[in-house]
Amino acid sequence: MQALDMPEFSPGSVWLVGAGPGDPGLLSLLGLHALQHADVVVYDALVDVRVLKLARTGALLEYAGKRGGRPSPRQRDISLRLVELARDGRRVLRLKGGDPFVFGRGGEEALALAGAGIPFRVVPGITSGIGGLAYAGIPVTHRDTNQSVTFVTGHGVTGDVPDGLDWEGIARGAPTVVFYMALKHLERIAGLLVAAGRAAGTPAAIVIRASTPEQKVLETTLGTAARDAAAAGLEPPALFVVGEVVRLRSGLDWLGAAEGRLLDADPLGVARHGPAESA
Ligand code: SAH
Repeated sequence: MQALDMPEFSPGSVWLVGAGPGDPGLLSLLGLHALQHADVVVYDALVDVRVLKLARTGALLEYAGKRGGRPSPRQRDISLRLVELARDGRRVLRLKGGDPFVFGRGGEEALALAGAGIPFRVVPGITSGIGGLAYAGIPVTHRDTNQSVTFVTGHGVTGDVPDGLDWEGIARGAPTVVFYMALKHLERIAGLLVAAGRAAGTPAAIVIRASTPEQKVLETTLGTAARDAAAAGLEPPALFVVGEVVRLRSGLDWLGAAEGRLLDADPLGVARHGPAESA
């Protein structure tokens, strides 16, 4: 680490760090450096305990997560707390699951710090919608299936499916759509996508606690996702991914392969049916 000449974590500053989806090995070196130097770690519910264990002995760990997936009335309080700790001269590590700027309110906290004149640094993390899906053997892009991808939150400020989403745009836009925070409203979300023109038979998957020892993956279709999720009793945190890329999982489930499951060398059926239509 020393050879890397890491930036100094100065007292009175805040580092806004993404902890990745779970597996501590996915933390960045800057994230680890921050954990080794922070005086206070203000962490969210989604931060894996194995990551928290990397904090310097003696660092204060402060929980600032939201409970029950409700919109947080405490967001302002969290920002104020960060400002207060920094003004106290601490090295403040604000640790968030995934990437702090992906559906993580990192922007809001950073703006509050900027407004209060507190120096801050942002350390991106591996977002669950990319890295978590990779742990399920699902690439978010694949040349034969999609050249674009859409990330959507299934949860707005009110806790409901966000208003103002352009469902036709989402359905017809990118072939791969990745939903965060979508389990609670899965039935509505899937219904809206189908009503907007996405075929009910489109492959889909639900990935629970990606990259943790409790990871679970349910393969389904857009039309049957809500029923299958309920039948399996799935609980958040969950990603919902819709698109042909899900089929690749049968060939790319490297975690399953490590546990002895067989991989399919031709999951898209290219050898059987020829390549997908290409431009
Ligand atoms: N900043 C985070 C997202 C925060 S929103 C990121 O970049 O990943 C919270 C949502 O993220 C959860 O409801 C879930 O949809 C998703 N999520 C985060 N970690 C996850 C994990 N390990 N497995 C599955 N979903 C996860």
